[in-house]
Amino acid sequence: MAVSEVVSSRPSLLSRVAAALIQWIDSDHCPGGADKMRNEPDKVDWIRVMPFVFLHAGCLGVIWVGWSPVAVWSAVALYFIRMFAVTGIHHRYFSHKTYSTSRFGQFLLAVFAGTTVQRGSLWWAYHHRHHHLHSDGPEDAHSPHVHGFLWSHIGWITSRRNFPTDYTKIKDLAKFPELVWMNRFDLVVPILFAISIYFVGVGLETFAPGLGTNGWQMLVWAFFVSTTVLFHGTACINSMAHLMGRRRFKTEDDSRNSFILAIITLGEGWHNNHHRYQSSTRNGFYWWEIDPTYYGLKVLSWTGFIWGLKDVPQSVLEEGARAEHAASVAAAETAARARNEHPHSALKHVIPAAAAIAVATVNAAGNQMPKKADGPAVHKDVSELAHELNARQTPSAASDQAPHA
Ligand SMILES: [Zn+2]
Ligand SMILES: [Zn+2]
Repeated sequence: MAVSEVVSSRPSLLSRVAAALIQWIDSDHCPGGADKMRNEPDKVDWIRVMPFVFLHAGCLGVIWVGWSPVAVWSAVALYFIRMFAVTGIHHRYFSHKTYSTSRFGQFLLAVFAGTTVQRGSLWWAYHHRHHHLHSDGPEDAHSPHVHGFLWSHIGWITSRRNFPTDYTKIKDLAKFPELVWMNRFDLVVPILFAISIYFVGVGLETFAPGLGTNGWQMLVWAFFVSTTVLFHGTACINSMAHLMGRRRFKTEDDSRNSFILAIITLGEGWHNNHHRYQSSTRNGFYWWEIDPTYYGLKVLSWTGFIWGLKDVPQSVLEEGARAEHAASVAAAETAARARNEHPHSALKHVIPAAAAIAVATVNAAGNQMPKKADGPAVHKDVSELAHELNARQTPSAASDQAPHA
């Protein structure tokens, strides 16, 4: 290749700056082609990412605007309302199509999801489907095991190669021009949303001065603070949900189930469940796995606005019960070994109790599911298990009874 060709293939600093500025408004603007951009090595695009930096910097506005109960509670409420949009719309509708709605309903969902300021629904769905295809592999854009915690949490979203949406990979969504338009001009909804919040604050200052708020204070709390925290709450699923929690299913990635993450993300914390079976509307597979997004979608389905919510197949629930039982038996074996090897250890009392609770939990799971007709007996009560352990006192005894997950 001639030197002149090499030079001409590298855009100048000025043209890169100009492209990044245009991309603030038009996300699909890729002068060298989107494919070329996607194949570049990971690198933070500082100019392109400035609106995202501005979102964080806006939180510092609390120094000047102060606070009031109505502003802070608005921020909290908008966090949870929009977390529902992230999980119920970006994730469970656009990424996985776990329920159906009309074309106009889909448009309204995309507008609602646009207020989350997490780029367009199509960008979101494209990257998320890519994550499921390559989870925790070298191609995964945000695996904490491949790229480290910080990159999986926030770095990947600032990388130049991760800005374009590959519409060829989401043809089921790209056939709707209204969705493509909102994805291309993905700042339109957030800006209109921010302006609306400002004017709500102005209205409150005018008509309810006793509340002690105003336009700027509402803008800082209900938009900047709430949206920034919403981003980090969501990002915890990319970072923490592949590091923290339990693995019920032996999926090919390192996804995990976490109650804490389920609370802050309205149900997305059951990430190991979700990686095992992505097509279900619910991520909490059992009644004690709290999944507020699913409850909200269920209520919405009663209105007729959405329909066709998909359930978890019985075979997957049974597979989960078998895995839980195998884990309980393993814990009981460990307890028996500890009792034999360290007869005076405090673990002698603690571990058997923990094992008993684990087994009881599995039995509770059994109440939610039909008893298995096939395979060996899955459910044993605590006294049966304790009796078996006392009688055999050998590590291999219980494993003879454990069906394979
Ligand atoms: Zn994942
Ligand atoms: Zn998913």
